[in-house]
Amino acid sequence: MKSFFKFILNVVPRPILIRLSYIFKFFAPFLMKGDNVECTVCEHKFRKFLPYGYNDGQRDNVLCPYDLTLERHRLMWTYLKTKSNFFTDKLKVMHIAPEQCFYKTFRAQENLDYTTGDLESPLADLHFDLHNIPLEDNLYDVIFCNHVMEHVKDDVQCMKELLRIMKPGGWGILQVPADYSRDTTYEDPTITDPKEREKHFGQYDHVRLYGTNYPDVLRSAGFEVEEYDYKKELKEEDYKRYRFQEDELLYIVRKK
Ligand SMILES: [Zn+2]
Repeated sequence: MKSFFKFILNVVPRPILIRLSYIFKFFAPFLMKGDNVECTVCEHKFRKFLPYGYNDGQRDNVLCPYDLTLERHRLMWTYLKTKSNFFTDKLKVMHIAPEQCFYKTFRAQENLDYTTGDLESPLADLHFDLHNIPLEDNLYDVIFCNHVMEHVKDDVQCMKELLRIMKPGGWGILQVPADYSRDTTYEDPTITDPKEREKHFGQYDHVRLYGTNYPDVLRSAGFEVEEYDYKKELKEEDYKRYRFQEDELLYIVRKK
């Protein structure tokens, strides 16, 4: 059964898994019954999460079998629940490249005026290029744009555009995959072959790999940045129980 799961999770892209998740929702409580790990999003408890990731990058015990959230989703959700006004205040929200596991919940929240944007995703309300967003200045209280900046041609230009459409006093979350052993961004526009990009930047369609300098890149676009380390707040056993990624920081941005 374990190798069957590994095989399925290795070959089926996560968006398709999400569409099939009703099957997981039905079987997971029986197959993964237990109380070792807990998903902060769906609040279900399991013996173990499922493995997730491609080829050599597969991570054990990370994918919630109920709602298919990963480490980064559980971390962001926990922040929104415990540290932000996201579930309480009336807010105008722009969600770029919306995560499918959040989409329905956010859409249903009555306190939100919720809009999604993407270059081409059918999930998105608006379709546009982040380098040149066809919207007025100072529109949104909250902007989410996760795992996008490592794909775009000019990241600072895209960040400036997000800052422009954010209201003064607004905030956002702009997560990226980062290699915390690097202190600069590794970027080389001559590397365009998908296999080479995977080797150099970690995924076939990534054009750069950020290091610990990522907050400075956000600052250079004009954002105020808070690097939020949840590990400092949670007990070690809870951090492990929710299966957050060991070194993941949340990048909270604000506009003055
Ligand atoms: Zn879950």
